Amino acid sequence: MGLRNLSIPSKITSNFGNVQYQDVTDLLPKNPKKTWAQLAGVRDINNLTTIGLHHDAIPKSKKLGKTDMQLMSEIATTHINNTAYDDDPNIPIGEGGIPYHIFIRNGRIYQCNDLLDRIYGISNNNGYTVHIVVSGDYFNYDTLTDGDRNALYAAILMVIDVLPNFKEIKSHGELNPTNCPGYDINRVRSDIKNIQMKIERDKTLEAQIERCFAVKNQATYMYNLAQQSDGDGAWARSWLDSVHSIMKSQGLL
Ligand SMILES: [Zn+2]
Repeated sequence: MGLRNLSIPSKITSNFGNVQYQDVTDLLPKNPKKTWAQLAGVRDINNLTTIGLHHDAIPKSKKLGKTDMQLMSEIATTHINNTAYDDDPNIPIGEGGIPYHIFIRNGRIYQCNDLLDRIYGISNNNGYTVHIVVSGDYFNYDTLTDGDRNALYAAILMVIDVLPNFKEIKSHGELNPTNCPGYDINRVRSDIKNIQMKIERDKTLEAQIERCFAVKNQATYMYNLAQQSDGDGAWARSWLDSVHSIMKSQGLL
């Protein structure tokens, strides 16, 4: 059993809106000689404790005309042709494919490898890490867009949700000296902590009652408006009618 075709839980989408997620693993170029799993192995889910964050280090200005799929395919092909990590220089193999588990671009989340597959994301640190990359060069040229930041956070929380022994988020540079990923990792960690606290609070009795009260309060306000014969009244009647249909379909009316 691998870790493919994840879904974003509603507790996450309720904080980020409708972030798109797609598993494109089967659509990307693979090394015909060896897949990542054949080349580097498959990890036990219980050993995956850490999310490693990256950028692809390609400035956005250099890939303007490329679709997300084109760019991911090109990165995969470059790594398939890279024999620098081969065990035996006389038997060229290359890497398994794109060296990330999750790829983020244009506010969208793409899964590009089984999360259990060991890939070459951060040398000497690939036995326990899930690698997430945001497309761009955030060390030299680019800044994270709101859309990509949202998608990054949704992806991090989606991955945390499926890892039973998750411990921490680390940047590539914190595990191995490099400028990757160039964006502020401490802000990412602190924002994620705050969202996790909000998700926990949303589950409390107090928060549930607050939401119930908001519905009751708004229904009363709409009912009063609905008595009017003007546009506001028509608007309120139309909204209450749609609520009426939902409650009717659930057997509540
Ligand atoms: Zn990196």
